[in-house]
Amino acid sequence: MHDLALEHEWDDGLMDVTPRCPKCMSPQLEARNLARRFGGAIGALAGTTSGVLLALGSTKSGVLKGSVGTLLCTAAGVVIEGIVGGATGCIAGSKLGSAIDRNVLHNQHCRACGHTFSDKTP
Ligand SMILES: [Zn+2]
Repeated sequence: MHDLALEHEWDDGLMDVTPRCPKCMSPQLEARNLARRFGGAIGALAGTTSGVLLALGSTKSGVLKGSVGTLLCTAAGVVIEGIVGGATGCIAGSKLGSAIDRNVLHNQHCRACGHTFSDKTP
């Protein structure tokens, strides 16, 4: 029930600001989100890498002790740190990327005439 209400509000909000192609006035636009996708991928990679490195660095003393339990804990910790780091990096990268999309790149692509333009609202 709650989800339905939210979805309805979301639709109403979109109806008011239907973006249109400045060239042919077609509402058939798609966001390219190039920088956002790229940023998300890079962010996830960087985050995962730094998360794993952090986990490896912080648990090195545990590994040296050599017990199987510690090794398992270390492996789990590395995986978790990697996932958390990747998710955080992905979010940060996506945010940065969408800012670039909005401000720098021509992010909107008109499916009717192929025109690309910036979706920065005046
Ligand atoms: Zn167009």
